[in-house]
Amino acid sequence: EGDGRANIGVVGLAVMGSNLARNLASREGNTVAIFNRSQDKTEHVLAQHPEADFVASFSYEDFAASLSKPRTAIIMVKAGRPTDFVIDELVKVFEPGDIIVDGGNALFTDTIRREKAVRETGINFVGMGVSGGEEGALRGPSIMPGGSDEAWATLGPILKSIAAVAEGEPCVTHVGHDGAGHFVKMVHNGIEYADMQLIAEAYDLIRRATGKSPAEIADVFAEWNRGELESYLIEITAEVLRQTDADTGKPLVDVILDQAGAKGTGAWTVQTALDLGVPVSGIAEATFARSLSSHPEQREVSRELPGPSGTDVLSGEDADAFIEQVRLALYASKIVAYSQGFDEIRAGAAQYDWNIDLGAVSKIWRGGCIIRAQFLNRIAEAYDAEATLPVLLTAPYFVEALGRAQDAWRHIVSLSAASGIPAPAFSSSLAYYDGLRAERLPAALIQGQRDFFGAHTYRRIDKEGTFHTLWSGDR
Ligand code: NAP
Repeated sequence: EGDGRANIGVVGLAVMGSNLARNLASREGNTVAIFNRSQDKTEHVLAQHPEADFVASFSYEDFAASLSKPRTAIIMVKAGRPTDFVIDELVKVFEPGDIIVDGGNALFTDTIRREKAVRETGINFVGMGVSGGEEGALRGPSIMPGGSDEAWATLGPILKSIAAVAEGEPCVTHVGHDGAGHFVKMVHNGIEYADMQLIAEAYDLIRRATGKSPAEIADVFAEWNRGELESYLIEITAEVLRQTDADTGKPLVDVILDQAGAKGTGAWTVQTALDLGVPVSGIAEATFARSLSSHPEQREVSRELPGPSGTDVLSGEDADAFIEQVRLALYASKIVAYSQGFDEIRAGAAQYDWNIDLGAVSKIWRGGCIIRAQFLNRIAEAYDAEATLPVLLTAPYFVEALGRAQDAWRHIVSLSAASGIPAPAFSSSLAYYDGLRAERLPAALIQGQRDFFGAHTYRRIDKEGTFHTLWSGDR
């Protein structure tokens, strides 16, 4: 038992698992064992992909026997309870030193719990974030594994062989112990929400302030993709805006219902940030903007609320100048959103005792995943120069970019407020930025209020210790 010929196994053969298994099988030196709860999926994958030379099993016992030691299996099943079921089954047939990897979208606190429980059996458990959807799983994802150093020693070379490659480097790094990988994957998704929302706000502002068509705005984004904003999301935004609806001949974006969906990872990022006390306002606004869009009954009754409903339409050079201001505001807000996301990773690492190399994290997002962008190199450079940088956006490159964007950023946020065009992520990013910069914050007043009604005490700027005032309101 356990002297089989496969060096790696995959459990769960829906779209992600089967694509990951095929990716593994396509790499020199790998023989891949496969298993799925329902036999028909396994048979389908076997029949469709003879070139992969899979070693298929129809029981957990046979699956374990088909793997050479240390047995290494990647679980790719529905997140939540199904993952627990599969872990329990693998623990029964695996031995100390073997490695169970969960590549699903687990909440990091589940991963911490599972790692602790599995470790007691002597088996290694690795929670692993996988980004890039089905295409990434097949051709090269960005991979964020947590777990022990011992597991990484076996797993690392295999993961490096299947990961996306960016500038010659595989998009995988050992993020940190237990839940670190899934934590970082969660924040990655939150940043993705913020980036998408910022791009959507930029589009809306340009459309409403210049009257340009979606196809014309597609050209703007295509142009932006040749500069400092170059990224997968900007690139696909141009493609989406250029698309015409076959049925109506209208721009497709105009016939798509304006209610954004979500699978919940943005909400996890915000909930976790609240627990950690980290202000990820860009990610939060992006998550709430999706929620707001998804309440048609509330939007319906609110349509007649008083307020401006747009701005004078700009044309010619004025429109061009406006578009450049939006570009600068977008870049500045994006810097804020990423800075906040990395702040959450920094705070998570401190809270859960993970030693996370923030520069390495930004580098593994350069390929395979949705937020891949040139810009991530700037983040890596910032952390290479100062690994414990307390606020990412204070790195020299970003200070320069934020300086360049100042007037434009403020103009665009003012215009959105004055004209009633909602730009929650642009606005909150600027407010966060000004909050960080402030010499004095009105938090002093809040401390006064707290001491007044609850005797919560306050500290002073000129003396050590805590103080309570006998307010005239005290009875
Ligand atoms: P999925 O629809 O999330 O899950 C289907 C798979 O889970 C099937 O193999 C199914 O087996 C198995 N399963 C469900 N309940 C089970 C149970 N109680 N015991 C054993 N197996 C069970 O599949 P997916 O879309 O390929 O995603 C797999 C994982 O990757 C998920 O955690 C997902 O969140 C994550 N992920 C997905 C994406 C993406 O773009 N789709 C990207 C990154 C990560 P049966 O065939 O027997 O039903």
